[in-house]
Amino acid sequence: MDRCLPREFRIKLYDDVVALRRGGLTYKGIIEEIYRRYGVRLSKSHISYWICGIHNPYNGRRIPSLELLKPSEELAYVIGAKVGDGYVSKKSRVRKGYNEVMIGLEAVMIGLEAKDKEFVEEFARCLAKVLGRREIRPRYRRSSGRYVVEVGSKTLYELLRKPVELDRLKKYIEHCDRCVAAFIRGFADSEGCANKRGYIYILNTDLRLLTYVKDLLRRLNIESMGPILKAPRGTVIHDPRTGKQYMTKKDCYYIYIRASSNANFYKYIGFTIKRKQQRLEEYIRRTTSTPTPPPTISPHSTSSK
Ligand SMILES: [Zn+2]
Repeated sequence: MDRCLPREFRIKLYDDVVALRRGGLTYKGIIEEIYRRYGVRLSKSHISYWICGIHNPYNGRRIPSLELLKPSEELAYVIGAKVGDGYVSKKSRVRKGYNEVMIGLEAVMIGLEAKDKEFVEEFARCLAKVLGRREIRPRYRRSSGRYVVEVGSKTLYELLRKPVELDRLKKYIEHCDRCVAAFIRGFADSEGCANKRGYIYILNTDLRLLTYVKDLLRRLNIESMGPILKAPRGTVIHDPRTGKQYMTKKDCYYIYIRASSNANFYKYIGFTIKRKQQRLEEYIRRTTSTPTPPPTISPHSTSSK
């Protein structure tokens, strides 16, 4: 089969193959039926791979198991964004198969939904790289006014499912300083903010996770303060984004970057999200003493402009 068939189409073929097999068809019968339906001729070995579960289009073919997942900056970014804001979930898909047999197939999804387009785009770019896919396109969800990216990957689901297990993630996060930085960037894009004065805060309900991030920051020569309890559970919070009030279910903590380390944060980490990065850049510009340029006009000139 053409390996470049779109994944969605391969998933459709896969679902049909599994259903046809359950309906009692032989390999030969499945090949003929698929050809009749879609004009695509599958090979016997391909069908047996699918039926025996050696691989399937829901899973990134190049990483059929966690052992084959390679550390990279892109993976570290996905982990950082995901332990913050992203979600992983199991969805039960029900398809009508051959002979009206209902089969349930489990698709394991990993995704992210956020209002900042560049954040979701970066997440999608990193996901594609990790999964060995050419491109993953985020879509805009009008009902929520947010951008969404979602893919099926059992391997990433196994890695990232909640509750977060740091021990499972550390070897990818701490692979090298670049991976550490990419992890923190993902986390800060998701959970961080730069206020109007340019101070950087990172919030999370997981105290252990925040403490870990603080230690990683120190490795990159970035000093931070906290974690500090911001809102104990049960606090009523007004969400300016939705205009609604809600009650916090968990204690919320934050750390903040010491102002003297902002330059290092900018240099080694930074934000993908433009509005956050701009505030940081303004801060750097304000506080960095630029060498005074040599005077271009004579001190005696009476320029009053
Ligand atoms: Zn690395």
